[in-house]
Amino acid sequence: MRIRKAKKMDEEKKLPEENTAEKTTGQTAEEKQEKKDSAYEEYCQLCRRPASIAGKMMHMPNNLCICNDCLQKTFDSINSGNVPYMEMFTLDPAMLRFGGELPKMPKVKKKAKEAEKTQEKEEKPALDLKNLKAPHKIKAELDEYVIGQEHAKKVVSVAVYNHYKRVADKDATIELEKSNMLMLGPTGSGKTYLVKTLARLLNVPLAITDATSLTEAGYIGDDVESVLSKLLAAADNDVERAEHGIIFIDEIDKIAKKRNTNSRDVSGESVQQGLLKLLEGSEVEVPVGATNKNAMVPMTAINTKDILFICGGAFPDLDKIIKKRLNKTATIGFGSELRDKYDEDKKLLEKVTVEDLREYGMIPEFLGRLPVVFALQGLDKEQLIQVLQEPKNAILKQYEHLLALDEVKLIFDDDALEAIAERAMEKDTGARALRAILEEIMLDIMYEIPKDENIGRVTITGDYVRGCGGPVIEMRGSLK
Ligand code: ADP
Repeated sequence: MRIRKAKKMDEEKKLPEENTAEKTTGQTAEEKQEKKDSAYEEYCQLCRRPASIAGKMMHMPNNLCICNDCLQKTFDSINSGNVPYMEMFTLDPAMLRFGGELPKMPKVKKKAKEAEKTQEKEEKPALDLKNLKAPHKIKAELDEYVIGQEHAKKVVSVAVYNHYKRVADKDATIELEKSNMLMLGPTGSGKTYLVKTLARLLNVPLAITDATSLTEAGYIGDDVESVLSKLLAAADNDVERAEHGIIFIDEIDKIAKKRNTNSRDVSGESVQQGLLKLLEGSEVEVPVGATNKNAMVPMTAINTKDILFICGGAFPDLDKIIKKRLNKTATIGFGSELRDKYDEDKKLLEKVTVEDLREYGMIPEFLGRLPVVFALQGLDKEQLIQVLQEPKNAILKQYEHLLALDEVKLIFDDDALEAIAERAMEKDTGARALRAILEEIMLDIMYEIPKDENIGRVTITGDYVRGCGGPVIEMRGSLK
């Protein structure tokens, strides 16, 4: 590490090392680089004094420089037995400089906004286990954000209510089982959104992780325990809060057992095995502030028995397994039904059983620890239109607000809403497509409107969305 030399120093005296370096001919590349950098000098990383004052520097691994004085003080401290050897690494450099007495640090006034934020955090009540919201209240609040998915919202509300009742229950006579959940549903049906909304309503920390990034411990990828570090970070390193949090593991279908493979399944079945003890509830050592146990960071113990685990996945092709099973039972004997009866069944996923999931590649022990299984349905056109308009933070409301700040009224006519929903249906990624489509439509409008201060109202039409017309723009003067 180097700092720029004081100008005076530069003129008056040069370090003896440098002088010799200059004299020598046939320098190595390193020496040349050093010469090039001669405007900078090394400084001690403990006392912060430059080499011109502190004298010759000792070089340690990782580009560390320490002056002779600090090194001596370090040895003295170790020899006197005042500081245990390992704690040397955590010593504040200032301690060494000021002979054990820490100088008072000046207080820096926080920015008003930051101060407000911390206050807000403190004021936010933690989850009140004694006065839990009843399931119907939880569902009513979910209704304000999540469109459709009535069954899923009901199941989640009850499961969450039971989970936190179990957490609050100190009566050990009847041990209540954990209600971890497995959520099936196509992409963009609102799985992540549902969990996020739930965690916000309950005011508990939430960690979202992707099962595809997890591998068996020791292999490239994240250990299963890294999800706990994420949760701890979401709870501002408050272990107690983290222990009441929610962990959402997305793409859980990607860790299904690989079929027809002879190699070790480090990212599939082994991850399921690794997750077992977390789902069940166990004490786990977790690094604070890092997801990697190898990092030199302090560790803390987290008990997962009160953490609610929600696993989600699209489970493509699971419908074929369900259909096969249903057809098998339905086509035997009298009154047998037509083979294609379930082909168009939109609610097929709801008929899922544990056997279907086992056949898909989930191991029985894993499924046994996720007792609540339910499905979300793909959203239809009407629901996509609702998603655009109705949730408290609906996308259209966001754009309307943005333009309202420019004192322009934004209107989407009914045909435009239909056209947007139709385009989203084509993409087959559920409500996820809506945002991208709107970004595309609104780009020109957001660019052009601020150019002309006289514009008072913009109406987006179906033709504009379909690319065969323009928006209707009205001037302030013409509006009543
Ligand atoms: P996935 O099921 O793939 O996890 P997401 O929950 O990430 O889908 O959904 C993507 C976005 O679509 C969400 O951020 C949300 O804005 C919107 N969305 C999806 N489903 C719904 C829904 N049922 N109600 C309201 N918004 C939804």
